[in-house]
Amino acid sequence: MRDALTLECPHCGETFSLALDVSEGSAEFVVDCEVCCRPMTVAVTIEDGELVDVQVSEE
Ligand SMILES: [Zn+2]
Repeated sequence: MRDALTLECPHCGETFSLALDVSEGSAEFVVDCEVCCRPMTVAVTIEDGELVDVQVSEE
């Protein structure tokens, strides 16, 4: 099952969306901002197939 995350870039403050497969459970990954292309670490907490928390920090 796929869900869409809305992330706020810690570098430029812009928001963009990212597809996420919630069936894979909690995860931490690095993505590049779609606006300024700088990397950020995204940690998602998923319980019972639902997204419950998103933490974004500067890489
Ligand atoms: Zn950015």
